[in-house]
Amino acid sequence: MKNFSKYLIALALVFSSFNLVNGTNQASAAATFIAPSSAPINGDYMDEDYDFGDHYGIDYDGNYYDPVYASGAGTVTKVNSGCSNAGDSNCGSGWGNYIEITHNVNGENYLTRYAHLSPGTATVTVGQSVSQGYKIGEMGNSGFSYGAHLHFEFLVNGIRVNPHYYLNEDLEGDVTPEPILHEFDGSWATLRTESPQGNATVNTFASPGVGLNGTLPTGSLYKVYEKSSRNGVDYFRVATDTWVHRDNGEVKPYMVKASYSTTTYEEPAVNPVRHSEGGLAPGDSYKAYGTEVTADGQQWYNLGGMGWIKADANGLQTYRMP
Ligand SMILES: [Zn+2]
Repeated sequence: MKNFSKYLIALALVFSSFNLVNGTNQASAAATFIAPSSAPINGDYMDEDYDFGDHYGIDYDGNYYDPVYASGAGTVTKVNSGCSNAGDSNCGSGWGNYIEITHNVNGENYLTRYAHLSPGTATVTVGQSVSQGYKIGEMGNSGFSYGAHLHFEFLVNGIRVNPHYYLNEDLEGDVTPEPILHEFDGSWATLRTESPQGNATVNTFASPGVGLNGTLPTGSLYKVYEKSSRNGVDYFRVATDTWVHRDNGEVKPYMVKASYSTTTYEEPAVNPVRHSEGGLAPGDSYKAYGTEVTADGQQWYNLGGMGWIKADANGLQTYRMP
């Protein structure tokens, strides 16, 4: 689905700053897949600003007939055709003309789905083997779609997960800072102040975007306790009544690492429901995208597509980047 709000592109850029340099999120698979389009993202996985319920994929905001590439090597297992570019929103179960590719990596099966393609542009057939980066079709507006774009989904065991965990976009630069063990204190990320204009300080606000109340020196590291947006712009709270505009800080979420098998849950709750993917195995590391405290005082970390984990789980550790 396409969301016309152009600020989502900016939001996507903020998300991209969440990428940890050493990319420990499922690192073995992370180097295996690539983005299926070079167009900017204007609707992200589980985007809170998405207007049509939960958004289980990434929207690439391209033009009609922009190329769509295989995210990884695999076998084409579905080619749906017969949908027009401006017509039946139910066509193809809403995905319109779409292609699915099954991938086997280190014995694990993954499936990628490419939706809303222009009619007649599929270059592949079911059963065909494709290499990574092979052009499989062209962008369109078929199915439940409001403008040319690519809706991209990534499935593990039939469950749509956050594609960012698997796309080779974490591996930038060759510096691998040593993570620092972090005590649970309600923070979930770090923010390093920066000024695109080259100023020595950045402004702080009493609440997101409102009430200038001071400055912080640029180049300094702060813990992030809260994220909130005002008029589509994210702000990060680094102390009581101290919010920083997203353009004035590089934000890196902590990594959460399990020492023992640890259950994850669908939502933070006093009586939580187990996450269908079953939790973390010993040694697994995931990024924390936020934190919440439930009525019983339990603190939780949001692991994105892996659900939520209790901060006091046995053997759980969080690390922050220096
Ligand atoms: Zn979409």
